[in-house]
Amino acid sequence: MRFKGPDQVVYRYLELSKRLGSARGQNPVAGSGYVFAVKCKRCGFKNREERISRDRQGRTAKAAWICSHCGDPWNVEIGFLMKHEIDGTPKGCIEDLYAELSILSKWISQLGHWERRIYVELYLVDQIGDYRDVALEANKRYPRAKRGWTQDRVRKLVQRGRETLSYRIFKAGMQAIQ
Ligand SMILES: [Zn+2]
Repeated sequence: MRFKGPDQVVYRYLELSKRLGSARGQNPVAGSGYVFAVKCKRCGFKNREERISRDRQGRTAKAAWICSHCGDPWNVEIGFLMKHEIDGTPKGCIEDLYAELSILSKWISQLGHWERRIYVELYLVDQIGDYRDVALEANKRYPRAKRGWTQDRVRKLVQRGRETLSYRIFKAGMQAIQ
């Protein structure tokens, strides 16, 4: 991965955390439980369909999966559900994505407390836009912060956050080739 600028680090981090789940829970197994058998136990057909039965009042009483070919009940078995099976991430590169997410997460966590609140959260994640509006929002959200929030203070925090992330990109050799 290469980055054109510091803001991209944050956006990439958000995208990866969304795809992979919390950066803290790095287990690629999403959970274990019942999964559908690959094929029909009776005839070997690979398509199943849902059969809905209704009670006398016409309400949905029960849903069951049956073989589309022979109508036999579809087997379920205990299995592990891998995260890549849920979000469509190709197998094999999932470890690389976790590694990348952990690097970006570390970079962002190393920003200062207010750089994260103002630059990452308000400015980038909430996309408030200009420094003045961020300052107004910061005054609402963090009214007890020392000195209060001004446009100038916001600008400095955004700049400092960007400088720090740019430096990380540079040090890691991940800057985009111009
Ligand atoms: Zn069948």
